[in-house]
This record gives sequence, C-alpha cells and structure tokens, in this order.
Amino acid sequence: MSYDVLVIGGGPAGLSAAVNVRARGRSVLVVSNPLEENPLWRAEKVDNHLGMPALSGAELLKRFRRHAEESGVDFREGKVLNAMRMEDIWYVSIGSDMENARAVVLAGGVARGKKYLGEEEFLGRGVSYCATCDGMLYRNRPVAVLGFTDTAKKEADFLSGIGCGVTYFHRPKNCVIRGGSTVEEVTCDGETVQVEGVFLLRPTMAPAELFPELAVESGYVTVDRRMATNLPGVFAAGDCTGGPLQVSKAVGEGLIAGQSAAAFAAEQERKQSR
Ligand SMILES: Cc1cc2nc3c(=O)[nH]c(=O)nc-3n(C[C@H](O)[C@H](O)[C@H](O)COP(=O)(O)OP(=O)(O)OC[C@H]3O[C@@H](n4cnc5c(N)ncnc54)[C@H](O)[C@@H]3O)c2cc1C
Repeated sequence: MSYDVLVIGGGPAGLSAAVNVRARGRSVLVVSNPLEENPLWRAEKVDNHLGMPALSGAELLKRFRRHAEESGVDFREGKVLNAMRMEDIWYVSIGSDMENARAVVLAGGVARGKKYLGEEEFLGRGVSYCATCDGMLYRNRPVAVLGFTDTAKKEADFLSGIGCGVTYFHRPKNCVIRGGSTVEEVTCDGETVQVEGVFLLRPTMAPAELFPELAVESGYVTVDRRMATNLPGVFAAGDCTGGPLQVSKAVGEGLIAGQSAAAFAAEQERKQSR
C-alpha cells in the first residue's frame, strides 16, 4: 500500500505527527523500533508535560501510542535504513523490505554515541547496519554483532541460522575495526576476533545517513517554521531538529510537521490528478 505520509520514529514527535496527519484525513504509517526501546521509556517520572504530571516515561509513551492507534495510524516495527525519491514518491527501506509515501516526517530522535574507528572506512566492505539485508553475503563465515538494542540478539540468531560463526558483543563501549581491502578483525573492549563481517545494530541512525542530501547543522536537521527540510516532501520534528530535547517541544513540532506533510501530500495528489 502507498501512504500519504510515512513517519520515521515512534516517539513523542513521530506519534504527534501521525495523529495530526490522521486529523487531516490522510493515511499514515509509523515505522519505528519497539516502544520499549525508546529512550523516554527509562524516565522514572516526567513532570513537565502540560496536564499530565507525574507519569513515568513508559506510561506517557503508552498513552501517546494508544491515541495514535485510536486515530487510525498504521504501525510497522523495524529500522529504516535509507530513503530515496523517485517520480515524486519517497521509497523507504526497512531491513530488506520497502514502504512508500508522498511525504516523510523524520522523527528519529538523536543518534547517541560516536562512530567506531574503521566503521566509516569499511562500510560496505564488511561493515553493515542490517543483518537480515546483508547476512547472506557472509553465509558460513565468521562475523561479529555489536548489539545495542533488545532486538539485536534476534538478528544475531538469524546470522547463526544461516551458518555464520557469530561473536556477540553486548553494548560494547570501545571498538576498532581493522582490515585490508575488507574487514579482517574487530576489537571490542579488549577482545579481538578474526571476522569477515561486522554488524553494528544501533537503535538510531544519523539523519544524514538516512537522507544523504539532507541539510544538517551540528548534527541537527535544519528546518523552517513549517518543519520543512531542504528535501522536497521531507519534514522533521523533535529531538532530531535540536534542543530543548524535551517531550513538549517534540509533540509541538510533530503537530506542525504532521500538518505540513499532510498538506504536501494533498498538493501532490492534486497535481497528479490534473
Ligand atoms: C532518561 C530520560 C529522561 C527524560 N526525562 C524527560 C523529562 O522529564 N521531560 C522531558 O520533557 N523530556 C525528557 N527526556 C527527553 C525526551 O525523552 C525526548 O526529548 C523525547 O523523547 C524526544 O522525542 P522524539 O520523538 O523527538 O525522539 P525519541 O523519543 O528519541 O523517539 C525517536 C524514536 O525513533 C526511533 N528511531 C530512530 N531512528 C530510527 C530508524 N532509522 N528507524 C526506525 N526507528 C527509528 C528510535 O528508536 C525512537 O524510538 C528524557 C530522556 C531520557 C533519556
């Protein structure tokens, strides 16, 4: 199915955007990691979101999500790896699968943590961000999985299932990837293993990795007052656009981005029917 709007990220910004797309009568799909992996889930108490004091982060997220579900928002669990536009439609890859929409709202929060030494250098030459997409290239070979999410273990199991010899590093702090023309070994927290592939499974990706042409300043997505980015039909909201990194700001920006994306999709539809 083709959607009017696709939202990347199911936190406060993404869910607010999605609810407001539905309020304009447009279809919307939210693609996100599991709710329990959202950073806010760990907040013991959120006291500064208007009208809802003293709720835990988990309770707040569950309420946001319920509201979106009741508004008719579609959901898909998974990690968006990249996006490209062809003939006025955005195609977004989720693992080895695709979804498409007229407009996109980027609401992926902030990508925490630095890149490891060798990560950039060996990307596509042994370094991968998706086990189910690239795993077959490493069938029956030794690989390392650097897992930062609860679902990373499942991806490691997938690799074992296709015959890879998997060394699993759980939330490693310091890694170095080395090799020649391709990856040959990785050292994480003092342990070195000889591998041909390294799978880095983080919950978020930097915005410019998803959209290589996206304008970004100091790591944050550049937006105007409509939350429009420099790319046609791409809007952004929440922590990914910069501080204050707070729930209410994310929800407010999500509302604007959702409305703008819905208006963009409606305009595209009008153009196509002329
Ligand atoms: C411990 C803690 C306590 C906090 N306490 C407060 C507080 O008391 N008050 C307050 O106002 N704020 C608080 N915050 C900040 C608040 O959590 C954030 O400002 C808010 O969650 C930002 O919302 P967001 O939707 O922009 O991003 P996020 O909530 O980070 O949501 C983004 C979602 O998108 C997902 N995602 C990212 N990239 C992809 C991708 N490529 N594919 C699929 N999914 C993707 C992420 O996994 C995440 O689930 C706290 C944060 C933490 C960590």
